[in-house]
Amino acid sequence: MHLSLYRKFRPDSFEKIVRQEHIVRVLKNQIEGGSVGHAYLFCGPRGTGKTSVARIFARAINCESPKDGSPCGKCPTCLALQKGNLDISEIDAASNNGVNEMRDLREKVQYPPVTGKYKVYIVDEVHMLTDSAFNALLKTLEEPPAHAVFILATTEPHKIPATILSRCMRLDFKLIPEEDLERHLETVLQEIGKPYEKEAVSAIARAGAGSDRDMLSIAEMCIAYGDKLTYENVNAVLGAADFSETCDLCEALLGADMPSMLERAETILAEGKAVAVLLRDLLEMLNRIAIAKTCRNAEKLLSLPQHAFLRVKQAAEAADGRAILRATEILSVAETDLRLVSSPRIRLETALMRIAMPAADGSPDALRVRLDLLEKKLKEGSISAGETPEKREKAPIEQRSAGSEKAEPSAPQEDAPPIPEEPPEEFFSPFESAEKKEISAPEVKKNDPSPSASPRGQMTAEYAYGMFIKLLRKSAQNIVLRVLCSELSAAFEGDTFVLTTESPTVFHSLERAEHRETMGSFLAQIGIEKFEVRLNAPKPPDGGSPVDELRRDFPDYPIEIK
Ligand SMILES: [Zn+2]
Repeated sequence: MHLSLYRKFRPDSFEKIVRQEHIVRVLKNQIEGGSVGHAYLFCGPRGTGKTSVARIFARAINCESPKDGSPCGKCPTCLALQKGNLDISEIDAASNNGVNEMRDLREKVQYPPVTGKYKVYIVDEVHMLTDSAFNALLKTLEEPPAHAVFILATTEPHKIPATILSRCMRLDFKLIPEEDLERHLETVLQEIGKPYEKEAVSAIARAGAGSDRDMLSIAEMCIAYGDKLTYENVNAVLGAADFSETCDLCEALLGADMPSMLERAETILAEGKAVAVLLRDLLEMLNRIAIAKTCRNAEKLLSLPQHAFLRVKQAAEAADGRAILRATEILSVAETDLRLVSSPRIRLETALMRIAMPAADGSPDALRVRLDLLEKKLKEGSISAGETPEKREKAPIEQRSAGSEKAEPSAPQEDAPPIPEEPPEEFFSPFESAEKKEISAPEVKKNDPSPSASPRGQMTAEYAYGMFIKLLRKSAQNIVLRVLCSELSAAFEGDTFVLTTESPTVFHSLERAEHRETMGSFLAQIGIEKFEVRLNAPKPPDGGSPVDELRRDFPDYPIEIK
């Protein structure tokens, strides 16, 4: 009988579990300390090892002489359990909604185990149980016999009733990082004696998207495709079609070449590619371009075949770093929106067009025009600071359609009260133009040789920033963060290390908790405990007036042009 790779290589000891060390450690400790609980809830994405861990755990707690927490596989109990045994039952809540199973279980759980110490019930996809099945399960969980252990597994823990949750020890399985998947796939391929290209392995691991099971099923399809597992074969199987087509489209996008961009998108969609797939391909390609643009060891990180890498590199050289970030951000939003809109195609095309019109928010001149107009409207009282962004967005559109890209700010407002020659300086600061630089907060450009006088002994902001970037580069996991941090200005204010960006996109990305945490840990390594990320200017001094509020809202403003 043909056995799927996943089943053939299903781990039978804790050592063979890919990643999830945090869970394995807890369970092993319980086995070794003899403190096995009555109910566990294994949460996590599909294919991350929940059922495998549950089975190993079920056998290990029954084993007469577990080896380092794993079942020995040799003692009478292990042998009996390997043959299938009433002491370990698996219930799939997805295939039956479980009322009868749960009632049945309630009865049978009372009988002592046949061979080992424990009776173990593994309930897969437990969130699929009906309310009455949950109730039956709850009654058992409330008064479990001493020999009963329940392992509930789910991909959707939020659907589990609180009454059940509160009786379980919850363990969260994590998505498996690509490098671990790669390593595992290589082991499998070596074991079955299949020759392979490293790039093919990387592509399959990437397609596995954190799931060992998914990766192995994809690998199985690809293996059947030819004698050797090649990158070409993998692409053929995954339908990850035209690498160069996608790359061309990205290039047109980043180069703001609207006609070419629309034509290429049209061609790809006409070939039958789904909008969601194209979006994902584009995001992946932009990510490659970003890596090729910023990382010295990009070739190794990307693990593409030579010709594909050269193509990406070429696109990266032609593109502007900020344009890549901006495009990525806009497409990510579109991807999230996709399942909410009635016409995904229009959503995609809108996003593409928005990316290909960077002039609207790229040039300081255009920005100044829009700011002037907004400030004037604010003075007139025709908008208030509390107004919706949609409404405010209309301003720049009107302005642009007036055809005044380079614009005299006052042109479309002749009948309005006069506006000051120079608006208050801080009004410009979020998107300050070159000649405004000198009035911004004291800061040291990263390539400015003059060291800033820092109260932190000998460490200048420039030095600290350099060290920080160096640490970031060393860690292969933080590619995105590295790109985000590559063009910051650094300064010390007292003990606080202040990193400043001119890009609202970068600013908002850096504000995210996961990035802040990573930045904090790297900065701590160079002895900096306090840091702040700012959008170009110091915080508004009072923050009270509508102008200030509006200004605080501005960071979003230039990216959201329709
Ligand atoms: Zn044993």
